Amino acid sequence: MQTQLSCIIFVCMRNTVAKQAILEILYKSETALSQTEVQQILPQGFCNRVTIYRVLDRLVKENLIHEITNIDGVVKYANCKKCNKNHSHQHLHFSCENCNTVTCIKSVEPQFDLPKEYEIKKINFMVSGICPSCSR
Ligand SMILES: [Zn+2]
Ligand SMILES: [Zn+2]
Ligand SMILES: [Zn+2]
Repeated sequence: MQTQLSCIIFVCMRNTVAKQAILEILYKSETALSQTEVQQILPQGFCNRVTIYRVLDRLVKENLIHEITNIDGVVKYANCKKCNKNHSHQHLHFSCENCNTVTCIKSVEPQFDLPKEYEIKKINFMVSGICPSCSR
């Protein structure tokens, strides 16, 4: 019983450490990162894909990060710094055709009127082109 219990505590601690590490990576990053990119930044063997997936999923639910589907269909995650209180994420995302990065353009929130019959579940404003560091 004793060993089983300490094992559970160890798993919990690892998850908290993983959560903190992943959150820190996303808050330091200027661009949105995919699950694979997060895994590449984490120390090797730090946590497996399933843990990273679960942590990202939880962080999205806690409104600490948001997900963006890139033009190529790859899901990327970005921090929720400077987000409005209800995290509606109406801001624009910029996808660079050259370096494949996705950047939150939080200062731009396109406005539109949708016919009343349509119910919005997800909004994805994506603009593609060449980012500032690639056009230099
Ligand atoms: Zn947010
Ligand atoms: Zn670029
Ligand atoms: Zn964003």
